[in-house]
Amino acid sequence: MPDGHLSPATRLITGGRPPHIPGASVNTPVEFSSTYRAGGPIDYARVGNPTWSAFEATLGDLEGGACLAFASGMGAIAAACALIGPSAVVVVPQHSYSGTSALLRRREERDGLEVRRVDISDTEAVSAALAGAHLLWIESPTNPMMEIADLPALASAAREAGAISVCDNTFATPLLQRPLEAGVDVVVHSATKFLAGHSDVLLGATVTARTDLHEQLHIHRTLHGAIPGPMETWLALRGLRTLDVRLERACASAATLADRLSAHPRVDRVRYPGFGAVLSIEIAGGLPAAQALEQGVRLWTPATSLGGVESLLERRRRHAAEADTVPEALVRLSVGIEAVADLWSDLEQALENA
Ligand SMILES: *Cc1c(COP(=O)(O)O)cnc(C)c1O
Repeated sequence: MPDGHLSPATRLITGGRPPHIPGASVNTPVEFSSTYRAGGPIDYARVGNPTWSAFEATLGDLEGGACLAFASGMGAIAAACALIGPSAVVVVPQHSYSGTSALLRRREERDGLEVRRVDISDTEAVSAALAGAHLLWIESPTNPMMEIADLPALASAAREAGAISVCDNTFATPLLQRPLEAGVDVVVHSATKFLAGHSDVLLGATVTARTDLHEQLHIHRTLHGAIPGPMETWLALRGLRTLDVRLERACASAATLADRLSAHPRVDRVRYPGFGAVLSIEIAGGLPAAQALEQGVRLWTPATSLGGVESLLERRRRHAAEADTVPEALVRLSVGIEAVADLWSDLEQALENA
């Protein structure tokens, strides 16, 4: 059956398998070889690897483009940012992943890149900032403020301005949002998060339907050596197989927790876009209360990162690199797949004591 007729939840399972011939292994093996006999499609493993190809085929199919695996989300982001040269103009969300912000700030200082920071949820402001721009960076929802961008409107505004559009789809995953279908040129992922899903591996990816951009990204990966290990890629592929069931549980629990937190007297504000498994809250009592919450949880783990089976929370401003427009008392919650009753009672006891 052609995979295109199957739903995404099924294609997560069928993608990247060995050919259907008697005796073939059902699972894609991990291939550890740095070099190949001459004359084949891959001659050296910095250029390609069959385990990467299996992961790339599966994620690329879901997003609707050609995928490249990278050593980390930042590896993929750096490759996408390298699509534009020095002194180019970039429009970026004022709240985006802190590594992305730091990378662009560095290029601003060292390469003369012009960085225009915008509220990505304000479509008019973003469109106005696009005049003369070469690259539009989108994150939606944004990390950690959970703002939502109008992807189709921004993609077409970028195209009109002659700018490449890139969307970091880490928070939504292709099951909840497919930016390429909205007209965006390139999707980047930290596969470290929901895609791999078990907080045991770092991996990144780019996906694009534009062959010119795919080629540039591939050249960047090969020449910068920004390649993942076969084992890491295999772990991420194994994680992808269960993405749909993990996400279904985590999203349902996140919605329940967002409701209960909104009604809790110790919580001033809940930022939850109505989908996904990440939310941010602001605690009454400010910084000390937020710190007490981090220290008071027993089931939740106070740790950075997100998208794993285990629930994590952290006060984002504990990182010096976080934007100072993010409230001091903002705590980001990544909801895992534990029973929601247990997650809630732990949060409740920690909030009472915060
Ligand atoms: C974690 C994260 C990244 C960076 O990915 P790494 O795999 O840690 O390099 C990029 N974007 C978002 C939205 C993230 O959450």
